[in-house]
Amino acid sequence: MKTFLGKIHLKWCIHCNLPVLDKICNACKRETNNVKITPPGDARPAFIKDIEMINNILKDQFNIQGGDIFKNKIVLISNTPGIDCMKEIILDGTVFGILKYDVEKNKWSILPTVEGARKIINSGGYKKIIGVKKEIMPYILEKHASVLRPGVVYASKDIKKGDDVIVLIMDDREENTENQKFKDLKDINVLGVGRARMDYNEIINKDKGMVVKIRHAETPKKATYLRETGNLKESIEKMVNANEHVITKYEREAIGVMRNTAEKIKKPIVVAYSGGKDSLAVLLLALKVFGDKKIKFDVIFIDTGLELPETLENVEQVKNEYNLEIIKVKSNDFWNKLDEYGPPGRDYRWCSEVCKMKPIERLIKSKYKEGCLTFVGLRKYESVSRSKKPRIWKSKHIEGQIQSAPILNWSAMHLWLYLFKNNPPYNKLYELCFDRVGCYICPAMELGEIELLKEHHPHLWERWEKYLINYAEKNNLDEEWIRGGWRWRYKNK
Ligand code: SF4
Ligand SMILES: [Zn+2]
Repeated sequence: MKTFLGKIHLKWCIHCNLPVLDKICNACKRETNNVKITPPGDARPAFIKDIEMINNILKDQFNIQGGDIFKNKIVLISNTPGIDCMKEIILDGTVFGILKYDVEKNKWSILPTVEGARKIINSGGYKKIIGVKKEIMPYILEKHASVLRPGVVYASKDIKKGDDVIVLIMDDREENTENQKFKDLKDINVLGVGRARMDYNEIINKDKGMVVKIRHAETPKKATYLRETGNLKESIEKMVNANEHVITKYEREAIGVMRNTAEKIKKPIVVAYSGGKDSLAVLLLALKVFGDKKIKFDVIFIDTGLELPETLENVEQVKNEYNLEIIKVKSNDFWNKLDEYGPPGRDYRWCSEVCKMKPIERLIKSKYKEGCLTFVGLRKYESVSRSKKPRIWKSKHIEGQIQSAPILNWSAMHLWLYLFKNNPPYNKLYELCFDRVGCYICPAMELGEIELLKEHHPHLWERWEKYLINYAEKNNLDEEWIRGGWRWRYKNK
C-alpha cells in the first residue's frame, strides 16, 4: 500500500553522513542523495532507547556479538503503512531494515534489508542463517528463484518456519555442520534475505522443497559504512547545522502564516498545547511572532483525564520555561460516560467529543464571546484526512472558532530539527520510543504501542485492561477482542 501525503523531503549527505531536507547540505555545500524510504516518509531521529531496543532485538534474533552497529551515527525511524507497527530504520543513508511488531508472535522483530544483513554478518551475527551453494546465485539474482533444499549447505539450528533469515554463499564442504567458521563470514558473502519455509529439523531431514522464499537479493558486495558523527548530542548539533537553511526557511514561512492570519482574522489568539511535539513547535513560533511584539495570546491545555504523567509534567515544564500562564481545562467525564457508551473505537471516538471538544467549547463560549483564532500543531504527514486540510478553516464543532495550522507542511524531521535548534523541554515519552503522546486508552494505538505503554505505565494499563476484561465477560467477547479488537466498534460486525 502506498500512502501519498506529500513530497518526501528526506535526503542524505553522504559526506557528512547526515539527513538533510534539501538538495544541498548546509555543512559541506555538496549535493545530497535521495533516500529510498516508503511513503509517507515521515521519518524522525532515533533516541538512545530506540537504539537500545533495536540492538536488543538484533542480539536476540541474530545473536550479534560485535559492537553497536549504530554507534556514533544518526539513525532515523520512519513509520510505514502496514499491519500494526512497522518502522523503517535508516542508517548511513539507506534503509537498514524494518522494525516490526509481530502480532502473531507478540514481540518485536527486525526484517533486515540486504544492506542491513551485510552489517549484521560483519558484526558477528550467526543465528537465522542459511548457507547456499555459489552455483545457485544466478537463479536467485536473475530468475528471482527461491532457495530449494538441494542448494542449501548450512542452516542454523535456531531456524523456525516463518523466521526472517539471511542467505549467505558458503563453501560446499561444510555441509550441515554447526562448526561453520563464522568468523570467516563477511558482508561479501551475503546474497539476500527472506523468509524460512521450513524448520531446522525439516531442512536437515528433507532433500527437496522450498527452504527460503527470498524477499530481496543482490550481487554480493561490501557493506557501506559512512563516517561517524559523534554521540547523539554531537550528531544532533551537526544535523541541525547541515539543515540550518531549511529550518530558517520553514520557520520564516510559518511565522508569515501566523502573522498574516492574526492580522486578517482579528480575534483573540489561542495556541492549543497538547504536551506533544507538534503543538510545542507552534508554541515556540507563537512566542517569536507575538511574544516579540508583545501581542497577547492564550495557551490552552485540555487535560482529557487520560494523559500520561510525562505529558502533565511537560506542560508544567513548558509553563515554567517560558513563564506562561497556561489555561488548563480538565475533563473528568471519560470514566463517568464509559458505562453508557462502552469502549471508544477508531470508528467511534466519543472520547474526543466528551473529553476534548466539549470542554474546549465551554471554555471558548465563556471566555471568547466573539470567537477566537486557534493555532494548532496539525501536520499533513500524519494522516490522509489531515493531508487534505487547508491552512485555515472554520471549526465544525465550535462556532466562532477559526483554526490555523502553520506547520501543516512540516514533516516530522522539520519539526525535530526545529525543536533541536530551539531546545525547548519536550515530552520525555519521545525518548522512550513513543511516536506520539495522547490518552493512555486511545483506540488509535497499535499493539506495539500498547506494549510500550504496558512497559512504562503498567498500572494505568491495568486499570483499562480490567475494564476491557469485565466488558468482554458481560458481552461475550473473546481474548482477541481484549487484546486489540476493542479498538474498532463496527469493523468486525
Ligand atoms: S487521543 Fe484517543 S482516546 Fe484521547 S480523546 Fe483522542 S481519540 Fe479519544
Ligand atoms: Zn554535508
